[in-house]
Amino acid sequence: MKSIAFVNGTVVLPDRVLDDGMVCCEGSKIVSVGQRESLPSDVEIIDAKGGVIAPGFIDLHVHGGAGADFMDGTPEAVISACTAHLRHGTTTIFPTTTTGSSQQISDMIKSCAVAAQQLSKQPAKAARIAGVHLYGPYFAEDKVGCHAPDGRRSPIVSEFQKYFDRGLVRIATCAAELPGADVFYNMARQHNCLITCGHSNSTWNEMQAAFDAGMRHVDHFWCAMSSVPSIRQRCHVPMQGSMAEFVLMSIDMSTEVIADGWHLAPELLEFAFRMKGAERLCLVTDCNRALDMPNGEYRFGNAADGTIFRSDGNVGWAPNGSLASSIVGMDSMVRHMQRSTSASLSQVIRMASLTPAERTGIADQTGSLDVGKLADILVMDRELNVVDVCLGGQRVSA
Ligand SMILES: [Zn+2]
Ligand SMILES: [Zn+2]
Repeated sequence: MKSIAFVNGTVVLPDRVLDDGMVCCEGSKIVSVGQRESLPSDVEIIDAKGGVIAPGFIDLHVHGGAGADFMDGTPEAVISACTAHLRHGTTTIFPTTTTGSSQQISDMIKSCAVAAQQLSKQPAKAARIAGVHLYGPYFAEDKVGCHAPDGRRSPIVSEFQKYFDRGLVRIATCAAELPGADVFYNMARQHNCLITCGHSNSTWNEMQAAFDAGMRHVDHFWCAMSSVPSIRQRCHVPMQGSMAEFVLMSIDMSTEVIADGWHLAPELLEFAFRMKGAERLCLVTDCNRALDMPNGEYRFGNAADGTIFRSDGNVGWAPNGSLASSIVGMDSMVRHMQRSTSASLSQVIRMASLTPAERTGIADQTGSLDVGKLADILVMDRELNVVDVCLGGQRVSA
């Protein structure tokens, strides 16, 4: 079995770093993590050159990249986007649906299944698909954001049962205030999904009911979610708690931030980190198809009928001047979080690896540099630019 040793770098563990550490893998798995020691001559050495040796990133919320949106509904689009994200350090990915017709969402899930099957025969080509994030279409009407409003609706059991029955949905979003949300959450729970509430204007009481049905996560904190003032508009007085208070008060709730520097100012990233901690806060890209593409106009969602946005090379903009999700990979999020908050390197990397793995139930396979886990390993320079990626023990060709 082929052995690889990563040496001469700072090894990032979930709770500490090892200076001048070493990580060895054999076949697809990690077999040792510790201080550097002498190695047999037949081991392939990857020299981190004084940089960082970290676990591969895991992205819970991502729409596309390299010109492709997962909602395009073809295996080629799925593979293009997953290939682009792997170059940015994402080794495990949850392709994410948006609003659209039932046919478009079915096609998206099917294309992910076909792509995952094809990728299993082409190791180290693209980020590993760990499941689909069923995100749209069950958004609240007043919190649709940049998603196509025609493709939004309340959950319909005959519709979402088809999605769950394919066995690929691992993360399931529904706005808690929609009629039928409880039935949706129950089915998501039966399918062992991370259950999340997003694009929602729900009240504290609606969140509590959702929590009782198994909801444990809220999508992109502060974006397209309720606040005390928004609930006051909806329900008048007395003022009521919103999604924000519910997430901040409950130890069992996790959330995520889009740390691209355009969605949230540094103090909000710091606030989310301090309130929730690295074990309950995930970094997500929420990246659209404009990743690694020239500035210009693109469609968010399906290539034929998605909403138009403009990429200026920093972020996506909707025609009305609001944000239309990010255009950068997880490596950018990690660098920005490191620059902008008091989180340690271990904590920043944890938010992009072990925490999302734990929340989705895959932490026994990946998410940290631990013996027995898949050798999903990144080498980064000191500025946290990705220089080498290893997926399941296979080096990714540049
Ligand atoms: Zn969103
Ligand atoms: Zn999104």
